Amino acid sequence: MTGAYDQSQEDLSALLGDAPAFRSRQVWDGLYRRVLRPVEMTDLPVALRESLESALPPALESVAERSADDGQTRKWSFRLDDGALIETVLMHYPGRSTVCVSSQAGCAMACSFCATGQSGFRRHLRAGEILEQVAVAVRAARPRRLTNIVFMGMGEPLANFDNLWSAIERIHGDFGLGARSLTVSTVGIIPGIRKLTAAPLPVGLAVSLHAATDDLRNELVPINKRYPIDALMEACVDYRTETGRRVSFEWAMIDGVNDDDVQTEHLARLATSVRAHVNLIPLNPTPGYAVRGTPPERIERFRTTLESRGTTVTIRSTRGSDIDAACGQLAAAAAGSTPIELRPR
Ligand code: SAH
Repeated sequence: MTGAYDQSQEDLSALLGDAPAFRSRQVWDGLYRRVLRPVEMTDLPVALRESLESALPPALESVAERSADDGQTRKWSFRLDDGALIETVLMHYPGRSTVCVSSQAGCAMACSFCATGQSGFRRHLRAGEILEQVAVAVRAARPRRLTNIVFMGMGEPLANFDNLWSAIERIHGDFGLGARSLTVSTVGIIPGIRKLTAAPLPVGLAVSLHAATDDLRNELVPINKRYPIDALMEACVDYRTETGRRVSFEWAMIDGVNDDDVQTEHLARLATSVRAHVNLIPLNPTPGYAVRGTPPERIERFRTTLESRGTTVTIRSTRGSDIDAACGQLAAAAAGSTPIELRPR
């Protein structure tokens, strides 16, 4: 079964049958501008509201909700219609509110330090399942306005390109958030970056780099064996040139693994060649990875060294880490699915 946010305007008109044409506009407005469930659309006749609600039940069933950071971070675990679980995180900051959405249930990329990667792949999300996470966040953010959407939840968005793109078009055209407010984060699937480069909306691109030499990156981010660093950097340069958007590199700080002078030097060189911004992420603990995060004073030193080489750097906050809502900690699928065993390619 597909949900309300899987419907195109034509699907909806067909579903409404003989109802007057303005009803389909009313429902569309209810879904995307007022962000209501059909049953809450009190401008519709009661019978229509109810029949729509049963034809288009929610795609996401909230099975757990937690909050942290004095209510400024909220995490939901949602069960999908086939039992798969995904997670969504809403974060309020002064002047902006960002939702981190999942694009897949689980993930096939198997990055060693990532909880989702450790739990294996279950399936792609439909566009409607991605959009409903946005709808939940818009409602939950009220009276504040949802200002940013990052595809940094569970899954690899560029491995689910078509559904990702349908969702982005709908977010842009119907929820009304501009391309500048959206960021797609990837392990570095080059054909996906190429498609994004050619696509008409210049969304932000974050590349989860984590290592600046191929031998180390092959270990941390196994897809690097297929899409090695040099080719990835070319795709990033082209993205920047074609879209005018700065690319960012994500770098989880892993003690004794990717925080030495050799990695710093190589990272500075790569960031300079792409003119990329670097986000340093304090490593968040995950069950399947025993290595510690780099201590804060060494993260600072890493930052200073990069900056002295002309790179702009931000140290990401560890929002939601105590409720397992921080970067790389989303792993609800492990509880409800049968993970597929992954071997490095
Ligand atoms: N698959 C996409 C989207 C996931 S985004 C991608 O890899 O970009 C989640 C971000 O958190 C990625 O940058 C990921 O590499 C990072 N991450 C994963 N596990 C982490 C951990 N344990 N600590 C800190 N960051 C982590």
